[in-house]
Amino acid sequence: VRVALHRGAGVALGIDVGRRHVRVALADFSHTVLAERYRGFAVPLESAQAIDTVTRLAAEVLDEAAVGEAEIAGIGMGVPGALHRVSGAVGDATLLPGWEGVDVAATISGALGRPVELENDANLGALSESMWGAGRGVEDLTYLKVATGVGAGFILRGHPYQGACGTAGEIGHTVIDPRGAVCRCGNRGCLETMASSPAILAALAASYGEQLSIADVLARARAGDPGCGRAIADAGQAIGAAVATVCNLLNPRLVIVGGDLLPAGELLLEPLRAAVREQAIRSAATDVQVVPGELGERTDVLGAVALVLRRGAELLPPARTAV
Ligand SMILES: [Zn+2]
Repeated sequence: VRVALHRGAGVALGIDVGRRHVRVALADFSHTVLAERYRGFAVPLESAQAIDTVTRLAAEVLDEAAVGEAEIAGIGMGVPGALHRVSGAVGDATLLPGWEGVDVAATISGALGRPVELENDANLGALSESMWGAGRGVEDLTYLKVATGVGAGFILRGHPYQGACGTAGEIGHTVIDPRGAVCRCGNRGCLETMASSPAILAALAASYGEQLSIADVLARARAGDPGCGRAIADAGQAIGAAVATVCNLLNPRLVIVGGDLLPAGELLLEPLRAAVREQAIRSAATDVQVVPGELGERTDVLGAVALVLRRGAELLPPARTAV
């Protein structure tokens, strides 16, 4: 039920800029999503085009929801990869080529006339799944994003946890095999060298050629191709080893798995769960449930909205909910 009372408290705008897409969503403080937009691009987005698209889509969602720009209570924005909170720099510019030296928050903020809060994709997944998805009502959860990189976002005792400077959850650089492949971080055998989408494609290249995409691998694995199935299972097992450590340290109730590999379903989750059962201490392994995320491609943009809604909820008086 829409709650008109909250209209006066304003709306939250969420933005998700990826290599080849822009998403924008608008929600009010009763957590009702009022409007959403998506644009896909055939080639990687230049920063100027991305900013232009964000501005246009923002105007469209405001228009659809019949909300004025002045009612925007805050803007949240997702960026891929680690984000150092003190420097404000996006940790890995290679994930968004052409963005080096662009102060993303300041540029978008200048275009929309409101401050913009940045957050990394794994933390946004934790926020959105806990507000709208698989993590509703769960106080202690970990969200895992398995895509070009592997990252984790934490909700601890109901609050997001980013660490001292914002880099908590860099689970992709957990060393799983000290004699494994060299990682871009300088270590060997990081989870990311074994379980990210590029790692899976690299593992299959010798037998399947270089032309496979992750979508191909997932389709073949689901159709029973043993090699593709094995590559997904190995990734699940490696992720499970890292998740076992998370379980030992943080004892989450729920681990939610999202990202590009999620369509693999049980082909990924079963070996992941098996590794957790095997490698975590028994009580932590018993307490945790490993489930797929529910929000799919909307995960990041809804997380960007949730970032503002959470912040707003801390500032506003308790909601007078009219049902
Ligand atoms: Zn690494």
